[in-house]
Amino acid sequence: MSKILIIEDEESIADLEKDYLELSGFEVEIENQGDIGLKRALEEEFDLVILDLMLPEVDGFEICRKVRDKKNTPIIMVSAKKDDIDKIRGLGLGADDYMTKPFSPSELVARVKAHLARYERLVSSNVQENEIVEIRGIKIDKTARRVWINGEEKTFTTKEFDLLTFLAQNPNHVFTKEELFNKIWDMESVGDIATVTVHIKKIREKIEFNTAKPQYIETIWGVGYRFKV
Ligand code: CA
Repeated sequence: MSKILIIEDEESIADLEKDYLELSGFEVEIENQGDIGLKRALEEEFDLVILDLMLPEVDGFEICRKVRDKKNTPIIMVSAKKDDIDKIRGLGLGADDYMTKPFSPSELVARVKAHLARYERLVSSNVQENEIVEIRGIKIDKTARRVWINGEEKTFTTKEFDLLTFLAQNPNHVFTKEELFNKIWDMESVGDIATVTVHIKKIREKIEFNTAKPQYIETIWGVGYRFKV
């Protein structure tokens, strides 16, 4: 059952929305204060948020911005003023839909259903997307950031994982240590190209059968490294 959070300070409107949504089979919760609504939207798992613009403590603009910073939960913003709706559209806060009060509850229900269906399609298409890189016994799950070598899972640090994945995704391409350092470490990172050498060594210890004769990451003397296929 989809769970919906209504953040609305006008009790009669919130109750009406809740009644109609519950009749359509949704689980609904109401918060009438902006700060508490924001906290719940961030910390709990709601499938959709119906967000009023003018609220005590924290207004809908800020709630929308803060939720969107962290989550993709669909947000329908509602306001009594048409002008406000135009303003929020212009701000690009990331709301998925806007409604001017008063609206018919059945229209709200229709829009809620449409957004939930759209969001589900989006999420499931992301899941189906191939985020797996597989080369000669190495399997990298980019989504879960896990790596298996011949079926056995190995643990990698963040940078080791990024470096291995980058090389495996660009097989047979020779990269200099400078290129790899710039690609994997951001500019503010402490370190230099020797960091790359250290990380390659650690990755090899985990993926190579014999680190003296690497089968995957080859050293191209005087140039850099390449992932061999
Ligand atoms: Ca209000």
